[in-house]
Amino acid sequence: PEECRVYEFAEACGKTASEVISVLFGLGMLVTKNDFLKQDELEILGEEFGIEVTVRDALEDVNYVEEYADEDIDETNYVTRPPVVTIMGHVDHGKTSLLDKIRSAKVASGEAGGITQHISAYTVDQNGQKITFVDTPGHAAFSAMRSRGADVTDIIIIVVAADDGVKPQTEEVISHAKASGCPIIVAVNKIDKESANMDMVKAQMAEREMTPVDWGGDVEFIGVSALNGTGIDDLLENILIQSEMLELKADPTAKVKGAVVESLLEKGRGPVATIIVQNGTLKVGDNIVCDTTYGRVKAITNDQGKPVKELGLSETGNVLGLNDVPVSGAVMVAQDSEKEAREIATTRAEHARAKELSKSTKVTLEEMSGLI
Ligand code: GDP
Ligand code: MG
Repeated sequence: PEECRVYEFAEACGKTASEVISVLFGLGMLVTKNDFLKQDELEILGEEFGIEVTVRDALEDVNYVEEYADEDIDETNYVTRPPVVTIMGHVDHGKTSLLDKIRSAKVASGEAGGITQHISAYTVDQNGQKITFVDTPGHAAFSAMRSRGADVTDIIIIVVAADDGVKPQTEEVISHAKASGCPIIVAVNKIDKESANMDMVKAQMAEREMTPVDWGGDVEFIGVSALNGTGIDDLLENILIQSEMLELKADPTAKVKGAVVESLLEKGRGPVATIIVQNGTLKVGDNIVCDTTYGRVKAITNDQGKPVKELGLSETGNVLGLNDVPVSGAVMVAQDSEKEAREIATTRAEHARAKELSKSTKVTLEEMSGLI
């Protein structure tokens, strides 16, 4: 309803924008042609012009493309998919170090040589089973992804430093993790340190209803060291046990849907989006929409930087070919044609711009009336 602008209303009922503006002005409302009209304003205008107004959401079709993609899922095609694991915890407790250590420990040695740079998402192989890890830039981003429906996380690892214990951000992470409903594993990091105190961490966590299994609760605590690799196999085995209980399934033949976990503008390559595939298979040549951006997938590089033709379930890689940088946390869906993808994304982008514009004009008018 608030998606109808003054000039759009004027066009729809064969009036000029200034006629509409002057009627509203007569009613004591100061608007410009780009402002959005509310439902009651539309009804008043309808009465004034003697026409019947029915309010229909102009964005209706483009707003639901992400949900339409789910209609393409056929449960008879279900296969088991790898778990997607998100690592959270207080700053400096070792999230990034742990991710980097797992990756360097698990990627075949021939390839490990090239891995120096930290990346935000990757898949490892643990005794023939895959696990995808994601480094969230923060729990604000995690919540934003959840609210957008780009909720890729299956299992959460809360990292707590064994020498530092539960900190304010650990508490926040606990509440986010509980709200998500995902299984939680606590990785007690830095156990290589002399000052490490596993029991202190367990006690602090138990106070917050995160009682360790060996204390009669249901949360696994694994002592790890991102420095020397202690406990990493234990952690991965535990993830696989949790994953098996979740019975994660997806349809590799469905219309592809995924989430943008990171994005940037790269010199010479253009917009690059790091995507995790949730359903279907992402292929070079697919026409995709990521919120207000769109494009034909020009190239995909996997998490080892190698060009690939496609990304399968729970796999991650960088995608080239979008017209602009999508927000991280955006949902990605494929469309049948580039035209459809473009129309959906540009309609959204235009509305987003118009909304911004109308906000800024309103401020100006308010400021002006303040001066009068
Ligand atoms: P993040 O902010 O949670 O991503 O933490 P970082 O991974 O950046 O680590 C913060 C600091 O702790 C860095 O100086 C790391 O070298 C150090 N660190 C991380 N893991 C370990 C560990 O297992 N043992 C020791 N001794 N130091 C660690
Ligand atoms: Mg970090």
